[in-house]
Amino acid sequence: MVVQAEYIWLDGTSPTQQLRSKTKVLDVDRVKSLKDLPEWGFDGSSTNQAPGDKSDCALKPVSYYKDPIRGGDNVLVMCEVMLANGQPHPTNQRAALRAVAEKTAKSEPWFGIEQEYTLLDAQTERPLGWPEQGFPAPQGPYYCGVGSDKVYGRELVEAHTQACIDAGIRISGTNAEVMPSQWEFQVGPVGSLEVSDQLWVARWLLSRLGEELGIVVTIAPKPVKGDWNGTGAHTNFSTKEMRSPGGMKVIEAACGALEKAHAKHIAGYGAGNEERLTGKHETARIDQFRWGVSDRGASIRIPLATSKVGYGYLEDRRPAANMDPYVVTRLLLETVVLGADPKAVADVGTENGVDLKALAGSSTGIRRPTGGKAAY
Ligand code: ADP
Ligand code: MN
Ligand code: MN
Ligand code: MN
Repeated sequence: MVVQAEYIWLDGTSPTQQLRSKTKVLDVDRVKSLKDLPEWGFDGSSTNQAPGDKSDCALKPVSYYKDPIRGGDNVLVMCEVMLANGQPHPTNQRAALRAVAEKTAKSEPWFGIEQEYTLLDAQTERPLGWPEQGFPAPQGPYYCGVGSDKVYGRELVEAHTQACIDAGIRISGTNAEVMPSQWEFQVGPVGSLEVSDQLWVARWLLSRLGEELGIVVTIAPKPVKGDWNGTGAHTNFSTKEMRSPGGMKVIEAACGALEKAHAKHIAGYGAGNEERLTGKHETARIDQFRWGVSDRGASIRIPLATSKVGYGYLEDRRPAANMDPYVVTRLLLETVVLGADPKAVADVGTENGVDLKALAGSSTGIRRPTGGKAAY
């Protein structure tokens, strides 16, 4: 018997890394652990990850899931990209998170990410179900709506939710969003590496299932200009202390630390976020920081239930839909748990052996320090 393993990784596209995948046929009956998944390689010169004369990059499996599309014992495999010398590739943001996750494990951090996205008709590239000319009626009836005049693309949403469940992804809900053909699913609450790997695989599944229906998925932060909601990835976060009686004090202290580190976080929260964080459409302005209970116009919202009982979690509403969860969860852990220098630029990956100028460079909005620590 053989198993098909779909190896999934993030490329070097700047400023937003894109998903890539390819299939490996393994001569095994079943994948029982990561050890059954060999390292593999790919042509980095075709993904902005290597120059043509040194094109080989390595794929290191880091987590795997049942493949809900191929079924059987086939698997989806999330990978880190490594250099030929075994070091993390400069575009490998997961490696930096790994180190921080280990340092902060004692705090038992949990993350729940609300992934918003917009469906486009593959033929017209217009939002699904929108009229060929002009616009739908103004926002209002679409959020959590029902009926063919209010929601578009539910077939894909249903298929995706079941696929995530079948894969073993901790999807915790879905809803139609404020702009017609805009939707959301949530993953979590689980640890930083788990939520990030699972979110990337869930994004892969969404685009892959869209192929079957002639639907393109976009996670652009502001897919339609004007009086239409942007698309975000609210990141809900807690530590064991925050979840315990008296946790509200810890949450308030976290908000204080996040205020000081606002610029550093915004730099890593997704490209094009300035089009979304305008102060309108349930956002706070990108150049302002505000936190508040139940406040959907704030940068950080404390859910009412958390404020009422005095412990729970906070919601960082700033990340754009195209954010990299490896970066966002790392920044939250650094600022809130490790008390990192709010102005310091985090070192993202190692630079040995690759000419960074020949690459697309860091693709998540985090500027790479040219030496020592740089300030924003
Ligand atoms: P909203 O009201 O902002 O739309 P959602 O229900 O869409 O909220 O999402 C809430 C998210 O918060 C879910 O992903 C859930 O897993 C997550 N969550 C719940 N409790 C915690 C917690 N203690 N720590 C971190 N995340 C949590
Ligand atoms: Mn939500
Ligand atoms: Mn939402
Ligand atoms: Mn939210």
